[in-house]
Amino acid sequence: MYNDKIAKKACGCGGTMTIHMHTLIYSAKIKIKHVPVYTCAVCARYEPLPCIKQDLVAFLGELSAVAAKRRSYSFADRNEWACVLKETLAAGMFPGGTAELEDSIVTAIQAKVDLLLDVYRLAVDMGDRSWMDETERRLSQLTLQTPENADYGGKRKIEG
Ligand SMILES: [Zn+2]
Repeated sequence: MYNDKIAKKACGCGGTMTIHMHTLIYSAKIKIKHVPVYTCAVCARYEPLPCIKQDLVAFLGELSAVAAKRRSYSFADRNEWACVLKETLAAGMFPGGTAELEDSIVTAIQAKVDLLLDVYRLAVDMGDRSWMDETERRLSQLTLQTPENADYGGKRKIEG
């Protein structure tokens, strides 16, 4: 998963798309803040990050299924990628440009995975099944893996 660059990608127009936190307006009245997207500086096109797309679609489905109670939501409240990216992008200026931003994102994601694995072990020790399930769900958003099959000893190598 980390073989792909996270901070930027090529746009179809030949420009470079870089990562931003975006506020989506849903159904012309509901604000969804902190949605990680790529935006192109040349043609102004934007698209959600592939790793959050499925969860974003699920969230929009939930909003349309029930009458939304609020005018404003933060996607970072439910999605671990959005949460980590929000904190990373808010942290600084990145004078080293997208390479530095890339390193910061990868480091932040890894730190969050390590933290969630610690939480998971604690939940296992306490025999708290619902806490284990919740932690597993949050971990799977970041790693597309479950704690049982995650190889979290040392360096991670993920094909594809
Ligand atoms: Zn473009």
